[in-house]
Amino acid sequence: MHRIIFATGNEGKMKEIRMILKDLDCQVLSMKEAGIEADIVEDGTTFEENAVIKAKTIMEMTGDIVLADDSGLEVDAMDKAPGVYSARFMGENTSYDIKNNYILEQVKGLPMEKRSARFVCVIACAFPDGRILTTRGAFEGFIGESIAGENGFGYDPIFLVPEFGCTSAELSPEVKNEVSHRGKALNSMKDKLKDLL
Ligand code: IMP
Repeated sequence: MHRIIFATGNEGKMKEIRMILKDLDCQVLSMKEAGIEADIVEDGTTFEENAVIKAKTIMEMTGDIVLADDSGLEVDAMDKAPGVYSARFMGENTSYDIKNNYILEQVKGLPMEKRSARFVCVIACAFPDGRILTTRGAFEGFIGESIAGENGFGYDPIFLVPEFGCTSAELSPEVKNEVSHRGKALNSMKDKLKDLL
């Protein structure tokens, strides 16, 4: 059975990743389970670059097949900010309540069609022989007029999902996983790995 490390310290993400990858014939380990500690500098300017930096760094440390993701929110009216800087936007320690209210202010008064936004996720896979694969998933929506919902995390309370008529923070985790950027990128990666492993 292949051993794959997913380069994240986030347990919530690991749960989602295991659910999606369960039908692959491999053991998926978190960094903690693999006994790895690494402080990786994500200095890329695209989601692809950052995901590849993370996957390659851990692959070089362990010699295992390594998956990594990078994700963020693009708001069209803000020139696609916060984008790759989503986690660091307005400062790493600034609360999402403050970040979300700031974004609401930026789009205040704009008609719905000008409030378009998307969550993007790129998954990279680094193989010990040097091959790199990437897949990308996007979750299209709009910035709402106010904060709503308690589920999810980060920018979910301001992200309106048109098909459901609510924010992604008002969707159940199961539904969000099915339609989200991360779910889509992971499912595409699973399809590629099925043919390779
Ligand atoms: P990372 O991919 O873990 O570096 O996350 C990037 C940042 O993008 C997160 O810290 C959140 O601010 C934002 N983000 C990514 N995916 C989501 C999501 O599904 N909901 C809300 N915020 C998200």
